[in-house]
Amino acid sequence: MTANSKVLTVTFMALVAVMLYLWGHSDGREGTASGLISESFAAESPPELSPVKARERDFYAPNSEDLAPDEMRLIACGTGMPTARPKQAASCWLLELGNGDKFLFDLGTGSAERIAAMQIPYNFLDKVFLSHLHTDHFGDLDALFVGGALAGRQKPLRVWGPSGDTPERGTKYALDHLYQALTWDLDGRRGIIDPRGFQPFEVTEFDYKGVNEAIYQENGVTIRSIPAIHSLDGPVSFIVEWNDLKFVFGGDTYPNKWYAKYAMDADLAIHECFIAVPELIVKFKFTPQSALAVGTQIHTAPEAFGKMMSIIKPRMAVAYHFFKDFDTTASINDRIRSTYDGPLSLSEDYMVWNITKDDIRVRMAIIDEDVWPPPATEKPLMPDPNLRIPYSAMIAGGKYDMKDVIQPTYDEINKEYGLNQTQE
Ligand SMILES: [Zn+2]
Ligand SMILES: [Zn+2]
Repeated sequence: MTANSKVLTVTFMALVAVMLYLWGHSDGREGTASGLISESFAAESPPELSPVKARERDFYAPNSEDLAPDEMRLIACGTGMPTARPKQAASCWLLELGNGDKFLFDLGTGSAERIAAMQIPYNFLDKVFLSHLHTDHFGDLDALFVGGALAGRQKPLRVWGPSGDTPERGTKYALDHLYQALTWDLDGRRGIIDPRGFQPFEVTEFDYKGVNEAIYQENGVTIRSIPAIHSLDGPVSFIVEWNDLKFVFGGDTYPNKWYAKYAMDADLAIHECFIAVPELIVKFKFTPQSALAVGTQIHTAPEAFGKMMSIIKPRMAVAYHFFKDFDTTASINDRIRSTYDGPLSLSEDYMVWNITKDDIRVRMAIIDEDVWPPPATEKPLMPDPNLRIPYSAMIAGGKYDMKDVIQPTYDEINKEYGLNQTQE
């Protein structure tokens, strides 16, 4: 805005303010001023004209809203692809229920950061359901496992995932070996911090060929799995039933008959919707051959996503697994709309759905990038310092003497917290 146009704008706003003052109440309830005008200028009006009561927000602020007892809240913590980008983490969906339960569906690369933005105590983030073992669906499991245990998850991380056609292709194999890969990380933390969250994953591996079989039943929540068709045998989708609400999380798949049957009439149904083939070639740099194979056969093309949603008719259809940009959204939408005209969310990270029997409200979360861990729900357990694995004599002998500059921190903390800690 130029200086001149700014002066003009300010003059005009002052004029409007004076007119409102002369004509009636600024909030439009009485007098001749319309509510529309007074609201549009409220932000820059003189103080006596500004509304003073809080108005309902158009966005979701994490850690600021209680769920109603019969309400579900779904938050997209990753909607993208295996190839990382700042704007979209890979597949991850946080489902919160009015009974206090919380579930994570997939934990794709980059998603732990989005989960952290929700500021939920980590003791509540202990249940993870994996649709399959591609890294864009479980690549941040290590981040939640270690980072969560450091910041207040004082119990093992529970993980549900499918078997494979061989034991090596199953969830248990993957997680046992992931735990082993973390040997150095975990050994180095022994004797220093609360050990409870660092226990091995509690894995429930279920049959990937199970059709609508219950794999979880606790606290009034039933979660079922159905097979999916994607890359190899093994992938699945999940159906959550609670309080007469039905939520479906579709993992990667070619459109399949199990989803068509068992996702029918869901209150909210997520299904993958892959990047359209022309964009896969031009923007993702796939060859035309690979783009056709990946974009229409390994995954679900946007037109096929629409056809599936026209079959199951959810109260809200949610599409993910595409790069959602200013120049791709319209084409994805047009392709879906060629086969589906029902309620639709083209998801992106931090999209939020509040679901009740009467209403589905869709908003974006506005997050604080400066988050620290939320308060732990239990007191930390002091570890046994004897479990600490010592440095070798050679490495310990390389310590430069810093005792004089570190001692004041010990003095400060001992005084503040009534302790008697000494340097090693
Ligand atoms: Zn996949
Ligand atoms: Zn994927």
